[in-house]
Amino acid sequence: MAVASALNVISTPHYADALEVARVLQPEEAVFCFSAEALRERLAVFTAGFPGTVSFAVKSNPSKDVAIALAAAGLKHWDVASVHEMAMIHGVQRDAHFHYHNPVKSRREISDAYHKHGCRRFAVDAREEVRKIAEIVGDDRTVELAVRFVLPRERTSSAHDFSTKFGAPEHIAIELLQDIDRRGYVPALTFHPGSQSRDPQVYVRHIEAAARIAKLAGVHVGKLNVGGGFPASYPHSKPAPLQNFFTAIADAATRFFGKGTEPELECEPGRGLVATSMSLLTRVKLVCTDGDDIFINDGVYGGLMEFMQVPELQPPFRAIRDGKVLEGETKAWKVFGPTCDPLDVLPSKLDLPAALRDEDFIEFGTIGAYGIATSTMFNGYGSHPVIPVDKVFNG
Ligand SMILES: *Cc1c(COP(=O)(O)O)cnc(C)c1O
Repeated sequence: MAVASALNVISTPHYADALEVARVLQPEEAVFCFSAEALRERLAVFTAGFPGTVSFAVKSNPSKDVAIALAAAGLKHWDVASVHEMAMIHGVQRDAHFHYHNPVKSRREISDAYHKHGCRRFAVDAREEVRKIAEIVGDDRTVELAVRFVLPRERTSSAHDFSTKFGAPEHIAIELLQDIDRRGYVPALTFHPGSQSRDPQVYVRHIEAAARIAKLAGVHVGKLNVGGGFPASYPHSKPAPLQNFFTAIADAATRFFGKGTEPELECEPGRGLVATSMSLLTRVKLVCTDGDDIFINDGVYGGLMEFMQVPELQPPFRAIRDGKVLEGETKAWKVFGPTCDPLDVLPSKLDLPAALRDEDFIEFGTIGAYGIATSTMFNGYGSHPVIPVDKVFNG
């Protein structure tokens, strides 16, 4: 370990935290500060506590540094939403196992996933998709098809509801499961309770439905993937500890499927695993002292897009000057991003020091999920280098 970390220090300069990055590098463009150690610790919470296999939802953070850290920590299963994600992960881990849980895939994508990346696990929520996959994989009985089902809307509770786009209602899920079983593929079930699910009971309700679907279909389901949705802690969204979710999931599987006949469980967290391992270090470009407008070098087309879509997920933030946290009396600033688009403004004012001036830094914490992932190159901004740090600010 000592040797490995010494090598690490030689190969890439390592910083204590974003304060040191701000002081030493003074980055002009917004950068992400990433702690591989924080990510490893969070992975350990999942692998020690979750009653089954843990995979990572690559879409929540497609940065190679994250994939390398997870692979080095022993992660072998990856939930991917596209062939591009498979190619990126294969560049990091040759023997990666994929499940392609985007319910809608083109024929070309299915074929590339199957032939080029050895993917044998796919999610479906429509009959036509089962037919498409069957045309491509033929009679390969090792292929697993997981039916993505959905509960009626009032039965979900999350900051980000996915049920409006994906998932078969129960009566269709039953038919799909029977169709998959008849065709001879490995039948499985999966769901996604919505991102930042705050209540463990939402998993329990889905597991209850999974048992009902399997029973009514008359199909033995050997595997149940409970999706992502595990929450991270944000200033305005403080969830129960992960262990409460894990215990509720294990108990529900036994209760609804019966002791000894529970399916193997799997989860595919994105946010809950990666959110707390990155922060976004931005710099102030202009402070309008006769008003309350400030302009910074990143915004809703960059690492802060999710904040605009879901204000509940406002990240924690702090101002930095001379490598120290800038304290003092605060003022509610209206924060504009760097592009020439009037939409590029944060959805609420931020309480930051009244003494703020240009070239100060503003760090946004807990931005590891859907920060780098949804950032665009609008106006040429958004290259976002990833800087390794030991400790990440999370409010
Ligand atoms: C987005 C997604 C995830 C990850 O969701 P989080 O809420 O970030 O945990 C997992 N599985 C699938 C199929 C997804 O689409």
